[in-house]
Amino acid sequence: MIDAGMDVVRLNTSHGVIEQHQRTVALVRECAETRDRPIGVLMDLGGPKLRTGPTEGGRPLNLVPGQVIRLTPGLVDGTEELLTVDYPSLLEDVQPGDPVLLDDGHIELQVDSTTDDAVVCSIVHGGVLAPNKGVAFPKSNLTMPALTPRDLEAIRAGVECGVDLFAMSFVRTPEDVDKARIAVHRAGADIPIVAKIERRQAIENLDDIIGESDGVMVARGDLGIDLPPEEVPIQQRRIVASAARNKVPVITATQMLESMVNAPRPTRAEASDVANAVWELADAVMLSAETAIGRFPVQTVEMMDRIIRRAEANMPEGSAVAAPHSPDDHSYVIALAARTIVDADPNLRAIVSFTRSGYSAHLMSKAYPGVPIYGVSPDPSVVRRLALARSVIPVYGDHIVDVDELLAAVDELLIEKGYVSPGHEVLVTGSLPMGIEGTTNFLKLHRVREMMDDGHDEA
Ligand code: PGA
Repeated sequence: MIDAGMDVVRLNTSHGVIEQHQRTVALVRECAETRDRPIGVLMDLGGPKLRTGPTEGGRPLNLVPGQVIRLTPGLVDGTEELLTVDYPSLLEDVQPGDPVLLDDGHIELQVDSTTDDAVVCSIVHGGVLAPNKGVAFPKSNLTMPALTPRDLEAIRAGVECGVDLFAMSFVRTPEDVDKARIAVHRAGADIPIVAKIERRQAIENLDDIIGESDGVMVARGDLGIDLPPEEVPIQQRRIVASAARNKVPVITATQMLESMVNAPRPTRAEASDVANAVWELADAVMLSAETAIGRFPVQTVEMMDRIIRRAEANMPEGSAVAAPHSPDDHSYVIALAARTIVDADPNLRAIVSFTRSGYSAHLMSKAYPGVPIYGVSPDPSVVRRLALARSVIPVYGDHIVDVDELLAAVDELLIEKGYVSPGHEVLVTGSLPMGIEGTTNFLKLHRVREMMDDGHDEA
């Protein structure tokens, strides 16, 4: 999958045991190292996903419309009359009239009343329900904690094995993101947090949540349970636009090439979905079931890579509008200037952004310059995180102290990797002395030169 074009690996801690994810991290590091490719690892925290309990003898329940079923926070062997929902505050948090969706929304109930020990519901849309299925209360204001004990365990394990990013599920408010950040700091690290937008409450607090996050995911699977399907494309656009304004990467996720779970070719609608995400200015497009349990994981990545490349080569005119800026944000001012220069000079093939913390390469990405951005950093975790940013090709490079050294590094690194050839013109940005975030202070037009064996460039 790395060879086919995968840039970031997501570990979904909703499934499997934590030790298994730690082993996957080690495997990814090993494969990435052999190929000399920076691959980001994103650990996805499952969050407070509610589920139904077990059923009597493990049998599937047949829920018939018009009948009544009671939901209880207590643990019971579920039947057509009484079923567990693993949420301690169930009785307090739901109100008569609230809808309840079971199993990805396939089955719908409506709350009639609450008794001392159960919520009484009518079955609106019936169906067959297996044990331990997802439950959503799209209109109720649930008060559950943002992080579960399992999430806290995953954070500790993720910090221990050095994941590059965390994703937080079912975020409702900016304070939820804060809580994850504090937990990561307590575990002894400062790892960026991607907020997954999948709750109606998150949509209501969108800008505030994204303002507090280091990245955002359009988690269309669960979002499409909390909201009706026709709302999902509208919210997708809003989330991508808010990520552009807040200058953080955005991942468009779920069911992108879903039919490839079982087939070697996608539907035309799926190919369009991926291309549209590219044109909408997503930083990353994500595969889930396709690569987690699908029959054609490598072919799916290859197919997605091809669709992305074709779409990028055919960007609609005027689509990549950069976000407004505040005048004191010099790194972004330089990013906008770089875009203007690249637009004016078709000979400039690339931008090389020297970036210690990754900040200025992320900002350059958000100026959508339309050429590859080589993001060079001496920090391996920064390099791997840059794998998420649109148009950024991350490159590991040593710490640099002066301009001559920096330009020599451009020639050496980029020629060695085959990214540019002698004679190519590139635009170089950076900050010297290196090391202070947000202080991009130079921009230089540079013609790539051949390095002599003794390390000096040709006269
Ligand atoms: P999941 O999140 O894959 O963790 O469920 C993505 C989504 O809900 O779309």
